[in-house]
Amino acid sequence: MRTRENRVDAATAGTDLEHVLLSREQVAARIAELAAELDRDYADKDVLLVGVLKGAVMVMADLSRAMSIPLSMDFMAVSSYGSGTKSSGVVRILKDLDTDISGRHVLVVEDIIDSGLTLSWLLANLSSRGPASVKVCALLRKPDAAKVEVDVAYVGHDIPNEFVVGFGLDFADKYRNLDCVATLAPHVYS
Ligand code: 5GP
Repeated sequence: MRTRENRVDAATAGTDLEHVLLSREQVAARIAELAAELDRDYADKDVLLVGVLKGAVMVMADLSRAMSIPLSMDFMAVSSYGSGTKSSGVVRILKDLDTDISGRHVLVVEDIIDSGLTLSWLLANLSSRGPASVKVCALLRKPDAAKVEVDVAYVGHDIPNEFVVGFGLDFADKYRNLDCVATLAPHVYS
């Protein structure tokens, strides 16, 4: 029988995870709550969800399917220059939107807000295009890592300042398909 533990084991060879912070069920329950809130807040608006690749793919897929109002989707890919796993706030657009967002209600869908530098740049960039509104929905936020104040209207879970993988988040482009959010065992880094 295929259990939740089996799915985690299949993706990680069973030994790579140190600690599961959020189970698949916890993430799903919170996404359902956020979707209900968004359904209410955007009931009379033509909302455009903007997913930030690649990390937001899983949140985008689950959040959008849990929402029941009509919506559109687009994606952006950005790269944040920095050393190692730290972002610097200097951002380059790798893939821009296909959509003209002028006059549109934009909801940026993010996997995680860490320092906030990438998001802060992105919000300034999107705001300069004349949208009717721009808000942010992030599955995860690390309050202790914030370097700039960014207004995130919809937050899934606040988590400790630790490097996590799963649910779209990677380490060396792996672990995105984990259906939980977890820290990695030390041997994975070395
Ligand atoms: P920020 O500019 O807020 O520091 O960085 C945001 C980006 O850094 C996220 O979209 C994500 O790609 C990456 N990031 C930040 N924290 C983590 C983490 O704990 N795990 C992973 N896998 N990526 C992270």
